[in-house]
Amino acid sequence: MKIICIGRNYVNHISELGNERPEEPVIFLKPDTALLKEGDFYIPEFSNDVHHEIEVVVKINKVGKYIDPKFAHKYYSEISVGIDFTARDIQQKLKEKGLPWEKAKAFDNSAVIGNFVSVADLDVDNLELELLKNGVSQQKGNTNQMLWKINELIAYVSQYFTLKTGDLIYTGTPSGVSRVEPNDVLEGFLQGQSLFKLTVK
Ligand code: ZN
Repeated sequence: MKIICIGRNYVNHISELGNERPEEPVIFLKPDTALLKEGDFYIPEFSNDVHHEIEVVVKINKVGKYIDPKFAHKYYSEISVGIDFTARDIQQKLKEKGLPWEKAKAFDNSAVIGNFVSVADLDVDNLELELLKNGVSQQKGNTNQMLWKINELIAYVSQYFTLKTGDLIYTGTPSGVSRVEPNDVLEGFLQGQSLFKLTVK
């Protein structure tokens, strides 16, 4: 399986990092070794500034290529929230040099994934996501704030990469990203339902 991530998909997060609003979706990949399904998150030794980014995550349930946006909803039946952990200090250096972001974004355990829920009764364009840090709301957003909606992203991504069963798409983060420190407890919610909880080590 592969992990496809969307950058800069919420205006308020673009602003907090001082980035330009993109003309097309920003895409990057993480390897399967990035996935953290359960257990705690260990801050890697190479960074002093790892940030959490809570994101809605879509699990692809069949093979697709050049998917039409109006049929994109047929390619997933489950959704969750996860964290796109980002070594912001490394990413900043790479961005300044125009280099790829993998060392900052694709390291081991950088893709936290929560429990999946069915989308059957959900409006995917109006989903509340929230991250509590040590019990306090740290990131809160709604998929209605996305520059590109979930079905548009699936269509866009599938022009470049054949989507396969089990692939995950991380759909971007709202504002409120912050540095994590040992003993921080991070809990992710979708529509008020807790889907993951972990401790930073
Ligand atoms: Zn992200």
